[in-house]
Amino acid sequence: MTTSAETAVDQLLTHLADGRLRVVDLTNRLSADTPTLQLPEPFANLIDFSLEHVSEFDDSGPLWRHNNIHTGEHIGTHLDAPRHWISNRDGDDVSQLPVGRLIGPAHVLDISARVADDPDFLLEIDDIRAWESTHGPLRAGGWLLVHSGWDRYAQDRDAFLNTTDGVSHTPGMSSAAARWLAEETPIAGYGVETVGIDAGNGFSLDPPMPAHHHLLGADKYGITSLQNLGSLPASGALVVVCPLPIVGGTGSPARVLAVVPS
Ligand code: MN
Repeated sequence: MTTSAETAVDQLLTHLADGRLRVVDLTNRLSADTPTLQLPEPFANLIDFSLEHVSEFDDSGPLWRHNNIHTGEHIGTHLDAPRHWISNRDGDDVSQLPVGRLIGPAHVLDISARVADDPDFLLEIDDIRAWESTHGPLRAGGWLLVHSGWDRYAQDRDAFLNTTDGVSHTPGMSSAAARWLAEETPIAGYGVETVGIDAGNGFSLDPPMPAHHHLLGADKYGITSLQNLGSLPASGALVVVCPLPIVGGTGSPARVLAVVPS
């Protein structure tokens, strides 16, 4: 006897095979050129990603090649775990995240036209409410993914960070929006195309870096440096977020995939 749950998995697999569902990669490629956050003095920066060749069909490994990877936790497309921020210093590390919260409905909000006019654009509560008035309430376990158009700069470090006089000019969300999302909605996570989940000038907001403060403080997750959100529907896609289960880790590079109706 086939249960309805087995039928659901079978339908998913059938539709993936026949093309009615397709898988979209939302991840930036990892290399030494991947743009990364650059904190101003006196703060300490993480190392960039790099690949160290160890063996390559030579005396140290005649039949194989393999490499070491060197990377900070918060490099490229990556997840911020609750423990990352002072507002939740005893929160889950990246190995402790309940995996059921890493897969959920993708709510895609398009702010690209407004960011084109204003790189410092901040998402407000009313923008999210306007999305909800069309597409329904943000769902339990959902991921709010904001399409700003910033992924077009993902291969160009200077354009991606857009720094002038020591201040990065990239979009984010207001403190009020961050607090509302954290406290009044049942989402699991919030994803962006920029280098961090806060605006480039997020230190100037109150509290500083409000998306980090409120969302991680409320046991929600962040995902940065997403790509291809423009090819997703506003609702109806499924997102799968796969950070490494680093024990004690405050975040991890992640592969992020969406399952999208064709
Ligand atoms: Mn991070």
